[in-house]
Amino acid sequence: MNKLIITVAPVGSVPNKKITPHVPVTPEEISSDALECYKAGAAVAHVHARDENQKSTHDVELFQEIHDRIKEKAPDMIVQISTGGRAGLDFDSRGKGLFVNPEMASLSTGSCNFPKMVYSNPPDLVNKLAEEMKKRNIKPELEIFDTSMILPALELYKNDLIKKPLYFNFVMGLKGAQLATASQLTHLLSMIPDDAIWNISGVGRAQLLTTYLGIALGGHVRVGLEDNIYYKKGQLAKNVELVERVVRLAKEFGREIATPDEAREILGLK
Ligand code: ZN
Repeated sequence: MNKLIITVAPVGSVPNKKITPHVPVTPEEISSDALECYKAGAAVAHVHARDENQKSTHDVELFQEIHDRIKEKAPDMIVQISTGGRAGLDFDSRGKGLFVNPEMASLSTGSCNFPKMVYSNPPDLVNKLAEEMKKRNIKPELEIFDTSMILPALELYKNDLIKKPLYFNFVMGLKGAQLATASQLTHLLSMIPDDAIWNISGVGRAQLLTTYLGIALGGHVRVGLEDNIYYKKGQLAKNVELVERVVRLAKEFGREIATPDEAREILGLK
């Protein structure tokens, strides 16, 4: 079976220190968690930045610092910067992280509801972000929160804005978006090209289910406190514990873990 790429998403936009003391928020903490997870088997760090009040920000200097701190200690780890954002944020803000020229960046190809807001990704913005990534040779992680985001992603390929192999990340189990179920996953898989690469991320308690599904069905897996802060009911998780669990489950299943360079080959990165 193909090797498993593990992505860690250590922070995201939501959890703060009040919710869990384990969430990293400063560049030093975020990079240090990413590096710990790298040692445990994560090939990719999906990165958000936080300001001094722990608020989500697209500050390019913070992104740069996180990126550089990771690369300094683990030059081969793949850094994937988030272009996600609150409703209403335009290209000038959402695209800032791309100036760091990371190897990868997230790209959501449609809009949906998040629990307390509209996650707004109008076609113009999606196109602009894709164009900027193409210009900078940044591989998009097509972040799919709902079924309706697949066709616009395929459209980007038709319009020569993204290259094969297409890399989809199905984020499942977020309230307001798609369910985390095997039948929904099967449906999504039926919509993407045969040669596409896919990853799965589960929100909250769905993270363990999506980990199993990703490992068993030949996809790749993202875990981390961005999506889920618990190891199990009543027990807060550390990022590295979530990565270590994926490694153990994959070993039991007979899937080897991809190194960053093996991940580059799978994802078609230069
Ligand atoms: Zn994210």
